[in-house]
Amino acid sequence: MIKSLGTFVLLFLLGTMSCKKNKLNTVTEIMESNQIAANDLRPVIILDAGHGGLDPGATHYLYKIFEKNITRQIVDATIELIDTTKYKVIETRPQDNNIHRRNRIAIAEKARAHILISIHVNAVNDTVTNGFEILYSDSTLYKFDTLTSDTISIASPYKYESASFAEILSKETSKRVPLKKRKIICSKPNLGIIWAGHFPSILFEVGFINSTTDLKVINTPHGQSKLAQAIVHSISLFCPVE
Ligand SMILES: [Zn+2]
Repeated sequence: MIKSLGTFVLLFLLGTMSCKKNKLNTVTEIMESNQIAANDLRPVIILDAGHGGLDPGATHYLYKIFEKNITRQIVDATIELIDTTKYKVIETRPQDNNIHRRNRIAIAEKARAHILISIHVNAVNDTVTNGFEILYSDSTLYKFDTLTSDTISIASPYKYESASFAEILSKETSKRVPLKKRKIICSKPNLGIIWAGHFPSILFEVGFINSTTDLKVINTPHGQSKLAQAIVHSISLFCPVE
């Protein structure tokens, strides 16, 4: 009995160790696991599950619902649907940990992203506001001006591509997902992950954490699958592959 218990403990420890080994906790590990061969011509799609680890994001305290879990589930549903023979998919946060936004951008830069899609959940102090919003950045590149010592922002060449993807995603989501379409927002710099990359990027606020109407969609496998369909279809329209 004691011997078999010892064997069990040993197997358990070995299992835990091998699990840890497979975890992608650091930015270097994530980058190394996503090396792209020189002859791999697939468009690179970056899926960014907002928040993670000690940062739960928006929280529904009564129902114990966390933004970080919803964003994770929507990214997982998207990965399940996307055709990986046509698209190279990279996640910025494969595990439940908090990767700093600068590092998420670095992962996308290194992979030479064609588009970055960051998934988030909105929050306000009421239960009636509902619907999805899509944000893209007005200006994403920064330059240090040596004459004035100021940091100046310059209009991003990716602004219009980001806006175009936002339009596509908004239409595809409206077609497939029973969520109210709110607005597409051209945001000022410094918003989350979408402001500093050298690639088109959008932030998809899929709904509001305190809206029971939205939770029925964004926090259920069926609704998440519909959102994933909208995302995957939008990618195929934005980056068509024969
Ligand atoms: Zn968020």
